[in-house]
Amino acid sequence: MSRKIFSLCCLLSITILSFAQQEPVVESKYDPHALFSPVPYAPGPNISRAATGEPNVGYWQNRADYQISVSLNDIKNEISGSVTITYRNNSPHALQFLWLQLDQNFFNKNSRGQARMPVGENSRYGDAASGFNGGYKISAVKLLDDNTDANYLVNDTRMQIRLPKAVKPGGDVIKIKIDYSFTLPEYGADRCGILKSKNGNVFAVAQWYPRMCVFDDIQGWNTLPYLGPSEFYLEYGNFDFNITAPASHIVVASGELQNPSEVLTAAQVKRLEEAKASDKTVIIRSEKEVTDPASRPAGNTLTWHYKIENARDVSWASSKSFIWDAARMNLPSGKKALAMSVYPEESNGVKGWGRATEYTKGSIENYSKRWYEFPYPVATNVASNVGGMEYPGIVFCGSNAKEDQLFGVTDHEFGHTWFPMIVGSNERKYGWMDEGFNTFINSLAKMDFNNGEYKNSGVSKELLLPYIFNRESESIFNTPDAMKEANIGSALYYKPGYGLELLRDQILGPERFDYAFKTYINRWAFKHPTPWDFFRTIENVSGEDLGWFWKEWFIENYMLDQAIIGVDYDKKVVSNGAIVTLANLDQMAMPVLLSYETKSGKTGTLKLPVEIWNNTTTFKVKLPTTEELKSVTIDPDKVFPDINFANNKWNAN
Ligand SMILES: [Zn+2]
Repeated sequence: MSRKIFSLCCLLSITILSFAQQEPVVESKYDPHALFSPVPYAPGPNISRAATGEPNVGYWQNRADYQISVSLNDIKNEISGSVTITYRNNSPHALQFLWLQLDQNFFNKNSRGQARMPVGENSRYGDAASGFNGGYKISAVKLLDDNTDANYLVNDTRMQIRLPKAVKPGGDVIKIKIDYSFTLPEYGADRCGILKSKNGNVFAVAQWYPRMCVFDDIQGWNTLPYLGPSEFYLEYGNFDFNITAPASHIVVASGELQNPSEVLTAAQVKRLEEAKASDKTVIIRSEKEVTDPASRPAGNTLTWHYKIENARDVSWASSKSFIWDAARMNLPSGKKALAMSVYPEESNGVKGWGRATEYTKGSIENYSKRWYEFPYPVATNVASNVGGMEYPGIVFCGSNAKEDQLFGVTDHEFGHTWFPMIVGSNERKYGWMDEGFNTFINSLAKMDFNNGEYKNSGVSKELLLPYIFNRESESIFNTPDAMKEANIGSALYYKPGYGLELLRDQILGPERFDYAFKTYINRWAFKHPTPWDFFRTIENVSGEDLGWFWKEWFIENYMLDQAIIGVDYDKKVVSNGAIVTLANLDQMAMPVLLSYETKSGKTGTLKLPVEIWNNTTTFKVKLPTTEELKSVTIDPDKVFPDINFANNKWNAN
C-alpha cells in the first residue's frame, strides 16, 4: 500500500471511529482551541531578553545615583532642598533628552490624576472635593558638567530635559541638579501623608524628589503619568541623603543612619547597639521618654544622614511623637540586619505596635530563607496615616492596625522588598507582578509566622471568588489605572496570588514551582523583567508549557465550571468498574480532582491532568471500582475556583 492510500484509509477509519464515539451533547461555553492555541509571547526573544526567560547577553540597564539634601518645615508641612542625579546611559542609544518623574505634581489641582478623581465617591487616591493644591515648585535645573541652566519642560507629572549634547551610549554619565520644594499633602494617595497624634504629627514622606524615568529595551522612555492607582517603575542606584528636621524629631529612612552620635542621645546610641545583638525587641525610646525633652539632643534642627545601596527609591518619616524599638534579624548567609518600628503613643501596646518589630523580623527572616536574602542593612516599620505602602528598607503601615491586621500589613509591605524592590518590574503597567506575587508569598508566610499564629487571618477565598470570577471582572493584565478601582483588590492582588498558589500546589507541585520561582527572582534581581520573562522562566525551569494557564488566568477573564454529567458501569456490569463522564462547561480548564465512594463505604481519589481538555468538552474516566457507587465528586475541597459547585457531585439514587 502506498503511503498515500494508507493515509486515506487511515483517515477514513479514524473519521468513522469518531462518528461511532460521538461526544455526549452538552451545552458548554468551552472552546479548547481558544485556550490551548499558542500564546504569542511578545516581545519575542532578542539580544537583551532570551527565549529562556533570562536576561540575554546584550541585556543593559541604565543607572541613577542620587544625592539629596532637604529640610522639613513641620509648621508649613513643607519639604525643600535639592537633588543631584548622576545618570549613566548603558544603553546602545544616544540620549538627546531625558525624562524625569515629578510624582508630587499629581497633588496639583490641575493634574490629570485630579481631573479623573471620581466626584461624590470615595477613592483611595484622593478626593475630588479636596482644596489641596500641591506639586513641585522647581526653582533651578542645572547641568553640572558645565554648570549651565538646563532647557526643560514640565508636563503633568513628567519633566523633559533637552540636552545641548547627547549622553553617549555605552556608559556615558550626566549630572543634573534640581532645586525644589513642595507641601506634603495630609493625605497623599495612601502613599505619603501626615498623621495627627497627641505628641506631634507623623510625617510620612515619599515621592519626594524628582526621579529618573526608566529608559529600557522594551519601550525606550517609560513616561506614563502618575494618576494614582498605578505605582512606580524606577532605575537602581545608590542613595546618599540628608534630612534636616526639628531637633525634637526622630527621622527614620531607607538605609542606614550614618551619623547616630550627632542626632541621638548617648543612651539611644547605646540601646541601638544592644538591639543589634538582640533577637528580642529592645526599646530605643520609650513611651515615657517621648514627652521628656532630655530624650532628644538640644538645639534647633538636626541633620540626619542616611545611605542605601542598590535601591530603586528612598523614603523617610519624621516625628517628635515616635516611640522607637528594634531587634536583630538573622539572615541565611550569616549576615545580620536590624528590624525597627516607630509609632506614636496611641499605637503602643502588645495588641498594637508593641509587636511591630517582631512581625518585621519574622517576615524578613522568613522571606530571606524561602526566596532571596534581604539586601538592606535596616528595615523600618512606620505607624502612619497611610494604610500600607512599601519602600526599600522602610514601610508605612496604618497606625490603627492591630494583631492579625498589623501582622498582615507588615508582612505584605515588607514582602514588597522582593517584588518590586529586588525584582524591579514595571508596576505602572503590570501591577500584578508586584502585588500578586507578593500576595502569593504572603500566603505562605502566614502559615510560617510563629507556628501559624495568624494562619487563619485575612479574607476567605469563598467570599472573594464571586468578585474574582464574574463576567464583569477585569483581566489581571490591565494596568491598575485602567481598572475599576473596586476591582483592583481582586485583579491585582488576590487573583494572581491565588493563581500562583494553584500553579504551585496543583499544577507544578511545590518542588518544581519553588525552584522556578526562585530562579526568576535570582535572574531578575535588581533588573527589569516583563511578564514574558516571567512566563518563559517558569516554563523553562519547570519544564512545562503553561501558555493555557497564563492565558486563562492572567491574560483573559475566563471562568471554570467543571461538571459530572453521567455515571455508567463498563458494559453495564458493575464489577467491570464505573465510567464517569466529565464536562468542562466554561472557557477555563484545570486538572480534575475526583473523589468517589462506593456503597460499602470504600473511597478513592483520582487526579486527571489538564491535558484531558486539550481537544474536547467532555471526557470519560474509568474508576477502578468493583461495586456500586454511592457518590462521585469533583474537587470536594473546593481547591479550584469553580463557579458552580452544584454540578460537581453525582449521587446514586
Ligand atoms: Zn502591595
